Amino acid sequence: MTPSFESQLAKESHNYLVKGVMWATLISLFLSTVFFLNTLIQVSPIFSMREATLFLSPVVIIASVGIVLSWIFKGTEVSNSTLFIYLFMLDVAWLSVLWQLFYNGGEMYAEYASLTGVESLVDVLVITFAIALFPDRRVMLMAVLPLMLLSFFIRLTEIPANPLFPATKLVCFLAILVTGQKGLYSWFRKAVVRDVEKQYLLTQFRRMALVDGLTNISNRRHFDEILSQEIRASERNRHPLTLILIDIDYFKRLNDSSGHQVGDECLIEVAALLDDICHRPRDLAARYGGEEFVLLLPDTDLNGACRVAEKVKQKLALAKLTHPDSELGRYITVSQGVCQWREGMSADEFIGEADRLLYCAKSTGRNRYIEG
Ligand code: GH3
Ligand code: MG
Ligand code: MG
Repeated sequence: MTPSFESQLAKESHNYLVKGVMWATLISLFLSTVFFLNTLIQVSPIFSMREATLFLSPVVIIASVGIVLSWIFKGTEVSNSTLFIYLFMLDVAWLSVLWQLFYNGGEMYAEYASLTGVESLVDVLVITFAIALFPDRRVMLMAVLPLMLLSFFIRLTEIPANPLFPATKLVCFLAILVTGQKGLYSWFRKAVVRDVEKQYLLTQFRRMALVDGLTNISNRRHFDEILSQEIRASERNRHPLTLILIDIDYFKRLNDSSGHQVGDECLIEVAALLDDICHRPRDLAARYGGEEFVLLLPDTDLNGACRVAEKVKQKLALAKLTHPDSELGRYITVSQGVCQWREGMSADEFIGEADRLLYCAKSTGRNRYIEG
């Protein structure tokens, strides 16, 4: 089954978001560590370790919980809503850290130093969230806008005389993010479209290679492939394997009397009937050639296969497919060769044996099966 484009796009976006959120989490922890290290090795410490720990604790706690939960629930599908709630909490945690840094740093820093520190941190976070969340523009904007607005508000509070710079920065950043997201997303979309098309073509090619175009059941190539697999399986586990070769009686006369189109329709109906009879998961009904079909029955002995051959005969009689020029009556009939695989038999010998039995069925009156 080829997935629809929309569902594949939603799946790929979700997968990217899961990775993106995890990446944003790791970057958050990385930034927190850098902040700690800065505080630790600063010659004249601006923050004490205690203050740094206190300020950064919301981000560290939420990011750590995120990592632990993702580790515990590894392999489990996470819903979009869970992802957004977590992201919202991480975003709020960063907003609180930034506010604390600005609010408390203002007293300790040299003039405007806390402002530039907070602004740099916001810039890094905005880039991180924008890259991590680009497949969903609304979610991306929900994450980055509060950070950008906080940065804008803080500068406005610090330097109220110059509102033009933060306003221009906000608008430019926003325009770059939105257009960048559009460009990236269109590439992402194209990649998904190509992927879906590729899967569709592969399914089609596989179908064309293995399914008979007229009757829609397996073709000779598929049958040959499965037959050699099943022979190897029977060699290994010694389970019985049987094959029924089926040939429609007086089919040429049907073509000659009713036309090729009627002949084709008859082939389609016989194929559907045979396919219906092969109901076990490993049973295979295939079109072997012109008006010849084959049933491959793994884990079935000669008795079981004869019951299947009898069923074919009966179901065909019930189907009453008209044959205006048969010597056997008014309806389509078939002759069948039923053969069980024996140790050491090659695929060709197996089919050859079934063909010989089919020939016996033909020469002894048709509309019958001969087993051997
Ligand atoms: P018998 O009872 O001995 O099997 O006689 P028969 O006429 O069925 O056998 P024969 O091998 O002489 O004829 C088979 C015919 O099947 C000949 C061919 O034109 C026809 N045939 C093969 N493939 C197709 C097909 O795809 N469509 C149609 N309509 N006819 C086909
Ligand atoms: Mg034939
Ligand atoms: Mg025939």
